[in-house]
Amino acid sequence: MCRVCFGRFCGMARFGLVGLIVLVSLSACSSIWLESTPSPDPATVTTATAGPAESAQVETSPPVPPPDPYAKPRADMVEYQIRQRDVRDEAVLKAMSTVPRHEFVPADYQGQAYNDHPLPIGYGQTISQPFIVALMSELIDLQPGERVLEIGTGSGYQAAILAQLTDEVYTIEIIPELAERAQNDFDRLGYDQITAKQGDGYWGWEEYAPFEAIIVTAAPDHVPQPLVKQLADGGKMVIPIGPPGGYQSLWLLERKGDEVLRYNWGGVRFVPLTRTE
Ligand code: SAH
Repeated sequence: MCRVCFGRFCGMARFGLVGLIVLVSLSACSSIWLESTPSPDPATVTTATAGPAESAQVETSPPVPPPDPYAKPRADMVEYQIRQRDVRDEAVLKAMSTVPRHEFVPADYQGQAYNDHPLPIGYGQTISQPFIVALMSELIDLQPGERVLEIGTGSGYQAAILAQLTDEVYTIEIIPELAERAQNDFDRLGYDQITAKQGDGYWGWEEYAPFEAIIVTAAPDHVPQPLVKQLADGGKMVIPIGPPGGYQSLWLLERKGDEVLRYNWGGVRFVPLTRTE
């Protein structure tokens, strides 16, 4: 059965979705982020001078986090690129407002992290445009406690967004160097809700199936049947389908028993889903 949903797509077309969704393929290097552990402000530590030494009182105020120079660009990104393009799920908007996207892009591109386009992450791959990350996250309608599988970890940013929506995120990346870098970033930033591995995501992750949601961030030319099989009844998959190197259609698939409903969300451009030989 094939159903096509036009309402939202028309809304998106108003904002020029097709022209916006361009994934570039450039090479780049990884970002480095050093978390500082602020020491207590000396002015807030007081030691009583009267009375015996063992009764000295020490008052400390909680450490003040350093100001986030990206707070404003991130808030603007959410307002102008996402909310105004009709993404309305408050949990998704909150996730996009929270996750530090600049931590997932190479150092050379951090200044562009909140711009309205994809960015290179090395190895010919890209981190998706913020709007596409938000749209795909909204389409799968993830609820807290549900299991989601992502194919194409890349920078790890999409997985980090999903980790704000549920605490069971599984993600697979085929390029070993990217898989390793993303795992390091998950560790460094404390995303322990994310379980990641290197491998060919075409086969899904049988060990943790079924998944209430599957999100595929590289484009195959057909729907991988192992992924359909690992979708829970009532589960949703969002996946770009089309020729490698060209434009694809973004499909939302919804499993209802043995039936799979299909909704076309219009033209997108993703890097190809590659396969291990
Ligand atoms: N979700 C990513 C976007 C990454 S681009 C992010 O938030 O940054 C797509 C990624 O899919 C690339 O890193 C690419 O190497 C990976 N990929 C391509 N084919 C794959 C496959 N068969 N299995 C797993 N990952 C794959």
